[in-house]
Amino acid sequence: MTGPAYRAEIVVDLAAVRHNVRILKDLVSVDGPVQLMAVVKADAYGHGMVEVAAAARDAGADWLGVATLDEALALRAAGDQGPLLCWLTAPGDDYAAGVAAGIELTAYSVEELEEIAAVGGARVQLKVDTGLSRGGAPRAEWPAFFAAAATLEDDRRITVTGLWSHLAASDEPAHPANDAQEAAFREALVLAEEAGLEPEVTHLANSAATLLRPSAHFDLVRCGIATYGLDPAPGTSPRVGLRPAMTARARLVMSKEIAAGDGVSYGHTWVADRDTSVGVVPTGYGEGVPRAAGNAASVWVEDSLRPVRGRVCMDQLVVDLHGELPPPGTEVVLFGPGDRGEPTAQDWADAVDTISYEIVTRIGGRFVRRHV
Ligand code: PLP
Repeated sequence: MTGPAYRAEIVVDLAAVRHNVRILKDLVSVDGPVQLMAVVKADAYGHGMVEVAAAARDAGADWLGVATLDEALALRAAGDQGPLLCWLTAPGDDYAAGVAAGIELTAYSVEELEEIAAVGGARVQLKVDTGLSRGGAPRAEWPAFFAAAATLEDDRRITVTGLWSHLAASDEPAHPANDAQEAAFREALVLAEEAGLEPEVTHLANSAATLLRPSAHFDLVRCGIATYGLDPAPGTSPRVGLRPAMTARARLVMSKEIAAGDGVSYGHTWVADRDTSVGVVPTGYGEGVPRAAGNAASVWVEDSLRPVRGRVCMDQLVVDLHGELPPPGTEVVLFGPGDRGEPTAQDWADAVDTISYEIVTRIGGRFVRRHV
């Protein structure tokens, strides 16, 4: 990372976000109206929450979904006024601020329901754990949870607007957890109805289930990664024409020749096996470029793939230029949509044994983000 001319950039294509939202909305609406929630938590998976939220709404997203109350309040502060759900609150949170801002809250327990009810006027969605063993009321507590919610609603202390759960293995369509969780969710719907609840929306599907499991669509689907154009289940999802929205790029600060036998970067984990040239790219793990990309990932320089050689440093990485000496300032695309042949976030994920979610969400720091 050097001066402005060399600043590494993340370019987010909001037209791609809008395109993806339209594709997803059309896809789920084939057999009747299903609402779409664009999941914009974690700064919209690194894409910029406020800008992505506006683009998603513009393209027809019915809902926005975030994890924390702070994220939801930030969206309201930025002017968003539509249906908005947050799901990672806990007793002691400032529910009153959320209710005043018209944010729908998620309750996991009777204790949390009562605390939310104390605020007055809250719109609450009930989260049930159908098998992820993460947040949500466990199966044994559903009857008491629904009964408490129904009583609080009868007393006009809350409005129960939704009932939902989250899948553990939707990116593996044949995994038995999918059928088991869907069946458990249907059971929860029956129990909730028996308790007298009539939630406006019921929902279970994330991006993978949106693409792969129509039976899990219910009234609403919650799409995160697909909104950003990335494949939730690489190799398995149907190709529906999603477009990756993020490009990460930098500029060479120098290129130079090295000789066969020269070691590259810390620890000399790569030693040149021939005379070649290397380029210095001013970005590293300090801004979320995975250190594991060393000797594993490639970048795109002047229409060619160039492998990352040696260890990724905090602020720099070195690429093999195969004898060429492009001048300082030459563009280096770490990853992008892949249209030109450049690596994608999925390629980087494969190279460093993670998921595309982690690649796009972690990259940031000194990268300057620009929306186009
Ligand atoms: N719903 C919940 C509760 C989530 O936590 C997430 C993100 O992990 C999503 C939906 C969106 O998931 P995906 O990005 O796989 O669509």
